[in-house]
Amino acid sequence: MPDDERYNDIEQNINEVREKISQAAVRAGRNPDDIHLMAVTKTVESRYINHAISCGIDLIGENKVQEFLSKEPELNLQNCKAHLIGHLQSNKTKKIVGKVDVIQSVDSVSLANEIAKRSLEKDIVSKILLEINVGNEESKFGFDYDEIYERVCEISEIEGISVQGFMCVAPICDDKKVLRHIFSNMYRSYLDIASKKINNVNMNVLSMGMSGDYCEAVLEGANLVRVGSAIFGSRNYR
Ligand SMILES: *Cc1c(COP(=O)(O)O)cnc(C)c1O
Repeated sequence: MPDDERYNDIEQNINEVREKISQAAVRAGRNPDDIHLMAVTKTVESRYINHAISCGIDLIGENKVQEFLSKEPELNLQNCKAHLIGHLQSNKTKKIVGKVDVIQSVDSVSLANEIAKRSLEKDIVSKILLEINVGNEESKFGFDYDEIYERVCEISEIEGISVQGFMCVAPICDDKKVLRHIFSNMYRSYLDIASKKINNVNMNVLSMGMSGDYCEAVLEGANLVRVGSAIFGSRNYR
């Protein structure tokens, strides 16, 4: 068994994150049980991930198709689901469809079509989230905030996929008020689309908030937060 500091910190880190999520939920008048904690495992080695799973993590998020597929045989995923949360290139779609429970990072209609095509080939329906570029940042992937309704309608018509909600990555920002404003816009849009009852669209998931801003996201309505470094420590990119 590995016995290093990083490994030993994981359990306490998870407990601390859960505690903060609960506090933010209570502050917002929400039930803490309604917020799902995802452990983001990019660059994290399998033994650390399995340890997090043994500490109660039941959802992990990976950014890259190849990295997930190479770690997958070593992971104890019997009681833990995996989502893809990073930008997906069309030519990798075939490899990931059917391998993860949800693809959160659908950022174009053409990608949605490609996922649908590969899903139909495998005789499955893939659950997807639409990634929204909330900050309208040029550097970020995702649909423009202003075109959400049109794109949801367009994508809802595609057979082989099922929209389950939205995902976003907030801009890097130290101002908590600005962050809360962004997250609250996302939440409003999420409720708005849900209220339209579009065929084949089930608004169940609002995935927002990372290590630096998950409390603000929970305060504003997130029901899935994606936390990496606050659980596993800061990342070593090789
Ligand atoms: C890396 C990543 C996260 C987690 O980031 P941390 O700051 O380490 O918590 C969440 N979502 C996406 C899409 C990511 O790429």
